[in-house]
Amino acid sequence: MTDLDSDVQEFRSYVARWVDERLIPQAEALDHAGEFPFELFRELGELGYFGAMYPESVGGSGMKSPYTAVTVLCEELARGSMGFAAGVCMQASTATHTLFHWGSPKLHELYLAPALRGEKIGAFAITEPNAGSDAASLRTKATKVDGGWLLNGTKIFTTNGTVADFITVVASQQPGSGAKALDLFVVDTKTKGFSVGRKLDKFSIHCSDTAELVLQDVFVPDDHRLAAGEEGGSFKNAYKSLTIDRIFTAALALGTGRAAYDAALQYAKERSQFGQPIGKFQAVQFKLVDMYAKLEQARLYTYHAAALADADKPITTEAAIAKIVAGDGCNEVCQKALSIFGGYGLMNEYPVQRFLRDSYFPMVGGGTSDVMRLLVARQLGF
Ligand SMILES: Cc1cc2nc3c(=O)[nH]c(=O)nc-3n(C[C@H](O)[C@H](O)[C@H](O)COP(=O)(O)OP(=O)(O)OC[C@H]3O[C@@H](n4cnc5c(N)ncnc54)[C@H](O)[C@@H]3O)c2cc1C
Repeated sequence: MTDLDSDVQEFRSYVARWVDERLIPQAEALDHAGEFPFELFRELGELGYFGAMYPESVGGSGMKSPYTAVTVLCEELARGSMGFAAGVCMQASTATHTLFHWGSPKLHELYLAPALRGEKIGAFAITEPNAGSDAASLRTKATKVDGGWLLNGTKIFTTNGTVADFITVVASQQPGSGAKALDLFVVDTKTKGFSVGRKLDKFSIHCSDTAELVLQDVFVPDDHRLAAGEEGGSFKNAYKSLTIDRIFTAALALGTGRAAYDAALQYAKERSQFGQPIGKFQAVQFKLVDMYAKLEQARLYTYHAAALADADKPITTEAAIAKIVAGDGCNEVCQKALSIFGGYGLMNEYPVQRFLRDSYFPMVGGGTSDVMRLLVARQLGF
């Protein structure tokens, strides 16, 4: 285990206790209901956990290692429910990070501070039906008008999309001309012309809210454009937030992988066949050892990347590798856990099937594992 600052260790113990007492007992019911868990979400806001990454000056916790703190938050919550953790991760990082760095004091007051208190819900929308991995090819158009901008387009897979009070929307001044024409606009979801196309039904992370959004002549005032004045700078900046977010997605994988491993280890000691616990069979032990090793790799890479982010060092390669190692590795851990449970692994009364379903999300969210490999390959000079 990587050494963590004492305040982060203390933070972990608080979050872990909340997860054991509040989240785990409800996790199955939340998954079945498939609804956004407003009550638990607000509770985290009251506890101040959404502010783990931010200084006290904007209503945050002022932690010494803010990125490591959010990594801990995501890992611990995903041990209980990755669906819940995904919505929190959006609120505590991507949806608020760009606002914190490039939003005006007015935007901080309107959206950031209430979001950190859990009173407003945030989202970040870049992906479109025809622009996923190739996000810079997005078609949502920002047209300059008197006093602001008009946004037109459709977004898909937006986490927290149907419940959000504000959404940072990535749009292009000239669709078709790539990343340099992209800008970030903070859209209040009460604005005329904004609507939820549909809530999306998923195989995985059921209680995470995922939406298709429609923007039809949505007016965004000039001061709601992030990093206004820096032409083409808006997206370049957002890219830093999206890169950091990969570390948190790796942490989600790690948390759910841990839950699957713990459940399988316990089951291997309790379940008997051929007159002895199945854990006495070397084949089962080897699976558990491989799972343990995958989790250790995931933990080391993820916290290494978080420590680099806290030290303000480059993280493009490290965050991508962390997401590959933790995302793909924890999916393998969950597959092995399911096999250790035999037929019971397929039964909804055991959470291991949920862990496996949920483990597919970190291999896609924030960029697929292969797109992460592409980023690392670029760093290798290809
Ligand atoms: C549950 C969920 C929540 C999400 N939340 C958000 C959110 O809040 N906000 C947001 O903006 N987006 C969100 N996303 C979108 C997510 O970031 C995209 O799904 C992801 O980037 C992949 O895009 P795509 O689904 O269009 O797949 P595609 O880009 O169509 O990829 C399909 C396949 O092709 C492969 N591929 C594509 N290009 C290459 C390449 N150059 N080289 C090799 N292989 C390639 C991919 O690896 C993949 O296997 C979410 C997605 C999910 C599933």
